Amino acid sequence: MSLIKPTRRDILKVAAAMPAFALPAAAQLGAPEGQNPGYFRFTLGDMRLTVLSDGYFSNPTTGLGINAPRDEVQAFLQAYYLDVDKGYSHTNHLLIETGEHKVLVDVGSGDRWFETTGKLVSNLEAAGLGLDDITHVVITHAHPDHIWGIRDGFDEPLFPSAEYIIGEAEHAYWSQEGLVDRVAPERQQFVVGALNAFATEGLDWVFARDGHEVVSGVALVSTPGHTPGHMSVRVSSGDKTLLALGDSMSHAWTNFAQPAWFNEGDHDGGQTVQTRLKLLDQAASERISLLGYHFPFPGVGHVQRDADAYRFVPALWQF
Ligand SMILES: [Zn+2]
Repeated sequence: MSLIKPTRRDILKVAAAMPAFALPAAAQLGAPEGQNPGYFRFTLGDMRLTVLSDGYFSNPTTGLGINAPRDEVQAFLQAYYLDVDKGYSHTNHLLIETGEHKVLVDVGSGDRWFETTGKLVSNLEAAGLGLDDITHVVITHAHPDHIWGIRDGFDEPLFPSAEYIIGEAEHAYWSQEGLVDRVAPERQQFVVGALNAFATEGLDWVFARDGHEVVSGVALVSTPGHTPGHMSVRVSSGDKTLLALGDSMSHAWTNFAQPAWFNEGDHDGGQTVQTRLKLLDQAASERISLLGYHFPFPGVGHVQRDADAYRFVPALWQF
């Protein structure tokens, strides 16, 4: 039997009969009923790493690439099969097990922000760990999705045995006298939330500077811009290195392909871009792995140069 080949005229006829649709819907794949497992485990040298999800949240894409023309941002999202109106942010927490210590990066937002977040504890338990197991908590910055979950329903520290580490400059920024009256009204909640988190009774705080060693092989890297005292976490074992970015990069597509775009949520757009370009160059040159807090779960991959820009290459997982 020979193949039936349509002629060019047939194809044009079919095309003409098709209604002219507006922008095609981006996501063809939907959410399941119930939940997928929210943790993922791998190794880095001698360390065991687990990515734990706190759930997801959605923000309008109008906050994305605010220094670029809106239609260019929308065309970009469409080309990347993303919803042009609604963002979808994952929340990937890194847990580092060194043998002796268990270091958790950020505490999520608990039940104080979106209904779709606050899943960190259940995913930690699903991964076989308890709240008492955590020896150190690093807070990358004091935004709601990273710090509001710091205390439980009784206003006690969620991880009672941990030492809590945050950038000295980050703590100083949010703690400024009268800051709440100087920020935009929609940002006032952020200030109050950060101060409440800092003031949680029973917390053992360490205010850290660039290079601070949390435990052997885990160090803080100053990555300001998204917030004034933002810190990322560098994890090294043997000749392997992974950088948990926090929100120094917050979008797995725009941040790489359009590294000069910044977002509404970035405190200092120019500094955010500067920090990002430095990180991208370093990660590509040194072949460092990255973990993006808001990248698609589990959010781990590598950086490839792509002419004047970059590309995020998801890690190839080993089961
Ligand atoms: Zn965030």
